[in-house]
Amino acid sequence: MHGRRTEVDEPFVTPEGFHIMWPADCTSGSSDVPQKEIRNCRCTLLSRVKGFEGDTVTSSPDMGDMTFEEWQNAKTTRNQEFTFNQNDGIIRGNVSDQNTGRMVSYNPSYDYTIAVEKYSDEVSRALSMEAAWLAEQGTKDKVEWLSLVDTQTGEVLYREKGEDLQTGANFWDYILSHSEKKIAFLHNHVFDGAISAPDMEIMLTSDSVDCVVAIRNDAVICVAPRNDRPTPNKMLFMLYGDKTEAELVALAIRDYTRGYYEHDGRR
Ligand SMILES: [Zn+2]
Repeated sequence: MHGRRTEVDEPFVTPEGFHIMWPADCTSGSSDVPQKEIRNCRCTLLSRVKGFEGDTVTSSPDMGDMTFEEWQNAKTTRNQEFTFNQNDGIIRGNVSDQNTGRMVSYNPSYDYTIAVEKYSDEVSRALSMEAAWLAEQGTKDKVEWLSLVDTQTGEVLYREKGEDLQTGANFWDYILSHSEKKIAFLHNHVFDGAISAPDMEIMLTSDSVDCVVAIRNDAVICVAPRNDRPTPNKMLFMLYGDKTEAELVALAIRDYTRGYYEHDGRR
């Protein structure tokens, strides 16, 4: 959607052909817009007056003269410099090779165990089996698969294959129509990235999602089980302001999880 323009009272048309009046618009006669067109939206809306185009603002004031690509690269670089620490309440594994952009692969001899204290052994076993399945399937297809697992029974409720290395978003329809369930959201990472801001936002924008798990295909597993605080129902930048992605993730982990951990199953 970058750089799209429209008249004040006319909608923007998304790449999939839905009409929205502003970024993440889910009102104003666009109730048929699917969740995947709205969730994780990072767009900014700028006004322009006809006849005053000249060399006026071309981007958010925070970006200065940066192009969108420069801004994106700066974000990525800063993310890598940020280190989590114990004071954030984060239990960090000794995983040194994170967020370098390297592709990682499933290995059947690796350990895909997930053990979450608040779940029964049966549920933890189910989560572990699903983690291995996601890593294997995700390696084969070179995409992110996701699964929703019932945290009371361990039942796999839903699976979805992503597109173009993006996690799918049709699962929101399942979650929104099964609000009685408590769900663990599992997905694989094709590259060596840790849990991301959009990953955490899945938990922070739904009462039903009780745990978010990011499984690197090579068995480095990030687990974030939620604590008892009510769901803020907000995107991270709305909660914490303009920070790097890694800082936003660390703050969300500190405030909304009961201890995040990373498991390195390659040993
Ligand atoms: Zn992820």
